Amino acid sequence: MKAQPKASQAVRQIAQVDRDGATFFHRANLLAADPRVKFIFGRAAEEFENARKVLAPLAKGKGKARVPSFFPFEEYDKIECYVCGHVADADDLPEACPGCGAARYAFEREVSQGRAWELVMQTTKDVLAFSRKVGAAVGDAKAKEALAKAAGIRKGLLGEAKEERARAEGATPRGGP
Ligand SMILES: [Zn+2]
Repeated sequence: MKAQPKASQAVRQIAQVDRDGATFFHRANLLAADPRVKFIFGRAAEEFENARKVLAPLAKGKGKARVPSFFPFEEYDKIECYVCGHVADADDLPEACPGCGAARYAFEREVSQGRAWELVMQTTKDVLAFSRKVGAAVGDAKAKEALAKAAGIRKGLLGEAKEERARAEGATPRGGP
């Protein structure tokens, strides 16, 4: 019997979004200046990778599945030296700025913990909604089971992000800088 093309296509698309998530948060992790923010982005990269791994065996097919973009890649693609404004490629970050010689940290990002968790929260929510919508067409029991498992991983991440964001907000004095 022929495999259901619709089901495998849906799983491939969802796995692709999880892959995008892992790629995006890995990059954000590399660029974050604050080690606590690095940790947050690292957690998200890890969990999107875990979700992707669950789906990978069922997401067979050639090429990259076409999926909507849920992650602000454009914000992290080109990064600017804050000393001289030299623009570098995030995937090929220089050890020192070719424009002014500033150390690598001149390219790093200042992101607050609250903002980092918020980014994790929002993107995870969007991916969960996409997975629910696209996965609804899947009838195959094995694929459904994998989709539910991947969704469980993302829900865990979402719960963690909500809790941690509330904590980060509580730690910031209102009306402060
Ligand atoms: Zn520079």
